[in-house]
Amino acid sequence: MPKTKGKRQGLLERLAAGPVICAEGYVFELERRGYLQAGAYVPEVVLEHPEVVSQLHDEFVRAGSDVVVALTYYAHREKLRVVGLEDELERINRRALRLAKKAAAPSGALVAGDICNTWAYKPDDAAAAEEVRRQYTEQVRWAAEEGVDFILAETIEYVGEALIAVEVVKSFDLPVVVNFSPIYEKSKDGYDWIEACRIVKERGADVVGFNCARGPETILPLGKKLRAAIDGPIALVPVPYHTTKEAPSFQFLKRRDGSSAYTLGLDQHYIDRDEAGDFAHQAEKLGANFIGLCCGAGPHHVRAVAEALGRHPEASRFSADFSRHGLLGKKVDSHEKEFLKLWK
Ligand SMILES: [Zn+2]
Repeated sequence: MPKTKGKRQGLLERLAAGPVICAEGYVFELERRGYLQAGAYVPEVVLEHPEVVSQLHDEFVRAGSDVVVALTYYAHREKLRVVGLEDELERINRRALRLAKKAAAPSGALVAGDICNTWAYKPDDAAAAEEVRRQYTEQVRWAAEEGVDFILAETIEYVGEALIAVEVVKSFDLPVVVNFSPIYEKSKDGYDWIEACRIVKERGADVVGFNCARGPETILPLGKKLRAAIDGPIALVPVPYHTTKEAPSFQFLKRRDGSSAYTLGLDQHYIDRDEAGDFAHQAEKLGANFIGLCCGAGPHHVRAVAEALGRHPEASRFSADFSRHGLLGKKVDSHEKEFLKLWK
């Protein structure tokens, strides 16, 4: 982690020095571990089992993440209303922000406050825009008060909603990363994705790009186009699944029986850790600056990303060494060798 003596570097200084790694996907990982519900995907775990959130923060940092993202994803008024937790809104947000800050302190990692698509936005609807502004303002205010380094505005599908996010974050004088979730060919309000990024950048977003929805295979071509179109830092944070031309987003992947794999059947589409490293390498090569993995990522994927970018995080102490393996290793007894034929 690049540091200037005596002064902790912010997001933009670190991006100027090289890629910044961001581990995302907390909601998916904690659902899998049994601490929140698929479907609602609301992070009540922050109140019920804060120690589990802290543990995952630590695992991601140990695996090489330069950023600790506060688990305030879907901790906005609209979503909490759905699960009857609206009264807990501020408590969930502040607790999540403090857990992130605590986890980041030992390594000096950056702390990101997190806002996302609200499900309240409607194009050409002033009342809806006002509601989104209100929800973002309260979340960003708490994040600013708790001392985050920047705001990550993620999985946004409307340019109009992203612009409200930028306006609100800039009113608190914080850097903002805006990541669109490119599920479809265009934004829900009809913009080409590259044009969408250009618009939010012009309006003040510090980093623009894409997260979630697409896997490496279908996000990298978008990244290439974005790099050619935009100066300044860009973000690529795919999901760790094999998406394809036919199913460019993980929402469209199928199970073997043809039914939707989203979300509970996605396991069979996982990329492995080497493929995660390969993605990071290609992302760096095309000129992406804010690189990570989203929903579905585990610490082993993040470590592979970090190592592909030339890092040696704490978890690399346990990176694979098959020279020590009983059959695949250097010293294999002759009576074992016949069994090895099947392995290779
Ligand atoms: Zn995601």
